[in-house]
Amino acid sequence: MHMPFTLPKLEYSYNSLEPVIDAKTMEIHHTKHHQVYIDKLNEALSKHPELEKQSVEQLLADINKIPEDIRTAVRNHGGGHLNHSLFWQILTPDAKAKEVKGKMIDEITKTFGSINKFKEQFNTAALGRFGSGWAWLVFNKGKLEITSTANQDSPLMEGKVPLLGVDVWEHAYYLKWQSNRKGYMENIWSVINWKKVNELFEQARKK
Ligand code: MN
Repeated sequence: MHMPFTLPKLEYSYNSLEPVIDAKTMEIHHTKHHQVYIDKLNEALSKHPELEKQSVEQLLADINKIPEDIRTAVRNHGGGHLNHSLFWQILTPDAKAKEVKGKMIDEITKTFGSINKFKEQFNTAALGRFGSGWAWLVFNKGKLEITSTANQDSPLMEGKVPLLGVDVWEHAYYLKWQSNRKGYMENIWSVINWKKVNELFEQARKK
């Protein structure tokens, strides 16, 4: 079987985001959870090999054009692959990449009032997402927005470009934070890769 999608490497070690995200959670999340999304996406696409040339972004942006027999699998597992691929990139232990600066920050300040107000609103979205899902900062029709999605749904399915996504499935935080999603959300800001988020913003603006 041809395997179009493979697990991306992390740019940092599993223990390097401690104490915010513990090493065991990072390892299981990356090598088990993310790998399963990829395996099941590949399995689904093997039934329609003509789709294997498409990027996961293309597959999700046109989700209603995906053959019905694999549409739910592509939505869940393609979404899982795309969302996690982004998540690993917008986290970092690197002090330089964590600096809160760039055009993106100006735009956040303009849109939400201040970076702290932005974080508050983002966390409200994350805590308000019942069950499993994601909180997002997205670029939509020239503007920044905070939103959340259920399960592994991607904002791309609604034509919104994800810039920053935080996984609020329990598997993302349960070993360290147990049911304390609030603690996880309050602390995750100290490992956000603003350099990467800024790059994604610059790319989205040019489109
Ligand atoms: Mn996850």
